[in-house]
Amino acid sequence: MTPDAEFGYELLVCRYAELTWHPSDGSRPAIVSRQLGTAARRWDTVVIEVDPEAFAARRGFGDRTIDSDLLHVVRHAPADWAWYRDALPHPGYPWRYVRQAVHRAAGRSLIEKRRRDNRIQLRRKRPYPDWVERIVAIENKPDLDRSAADALADQLDHDVETALADEVWLATETTGERVEPALLREMPVEAGILATDFSAGVDDDAADVAWHPSDLSPGPTDRAGVGDEDAADRGGSGGRSTSRDAETVTRRLEIAERAYGKGWRSYADTMRPDCRHFELRREGRAVVPHCAAKAKVPTARECSGSCPSFSPEPPQWRTKGWPIEGGPGKGLRRVLDRRRTRERNRAGDGEHGRDRAGDAGSE
Ligand code: SF4
Repeated sequence: MTPDAEFGYELLVCRYAELTWHPSDGSRPAIVSRQLGTAARRWDTVVIEVDPEAFAARRGFGDRTIDSDLLHVVRHAPADWAWYRDALPHPGYPWRYVRQAVHRAAGRSLIEKRRRDNRIQLRRKRPYPDWVERIVAIENKPDLDRSAADALADQLDHDVETALADEVWLATETTGERVEPALLREMPVEAGILATDFSAGVDDDAADVAWHPSDLSPGPTDRAGVGDEDAADRGGSGGRSTSRDAETVTRRLEIAERAYGKGWRSYADTMRPDCRHFELRREGRAVVPHCAAKAKVPTARECSGSCPSFSPEPPQWRTKGWPIEGGPGKGLRRVLDRRRTRERNRAGDGEHGRDRAGDAGSE
């Protein structure tokens, strides 16, 4: 079944990407998230390809996103104690915000801090690793028609120009049909086209590559960046950073961090799994939300406390007699959290993609 809501389609694409990445170039360790980007452009599905060893080191900083203010502190924290204003580059905004970020970072055990001569000093607990290999954006358009193709072409052109992503794709549902060649011609040639057929749910063969994408990352001889020096200091591989300027490196890292903390299953945080009509249903090897009252995949917007059909789960579901502690709403959240952790573990182990065997790939 093809979910009628684009939201539902997006979740299936996320799961497909998680199972198969990379669709044409063979297995690459990656994590998948959705609805991320910049103020100017929000991507539907985001795939962060990772260096497994560095990603495992990133996990040492915990499971939460390290936001932009914290990143400034954590990336530049010195090995030995130093006054924070000596140790960190000028942030381009007042130092008092950096001081707050130092306190927050220490509160999350990301760095160490102490006070000497009435000055706040910091030092790192571990180097922040260079864990992001490539960023891939996927635009999801289950029903590709002429106007959608035009709008998409503009958005994908923007992606190609900004080079924040290393690769962009359009995913569209075909149910066994070929993508209309006239619509394909509207797309920038750099964007890959993924023709999905989720009529039997998600599996690792539920999509074909109708057009191969181009690598959008700047070549190694382009602008040299500060990121290279940073990476060398941290013992990371600076090579892939050399071609991007420092600001782009930082923005990409912020996106990757948000993807890491959020994952694509975080829809449960904004929807109402505590509604008695909320269910998780299988679509092949994907699990997606389902509203029993509306008999469909609810959109994240409609599945809220203001939904006219919202009906809170009865209190007795949360206490005795229910097999999951805390009631089904909390139980569903835990199931999704566990799956996010499992996928992070796999990426850190370097296990990902089509060649994963057996039960490990089941949702
Ligand atoms: S009835 Fe409304 S709140 Fe409840 S699961 Fe359906 S869409 Fe969500």
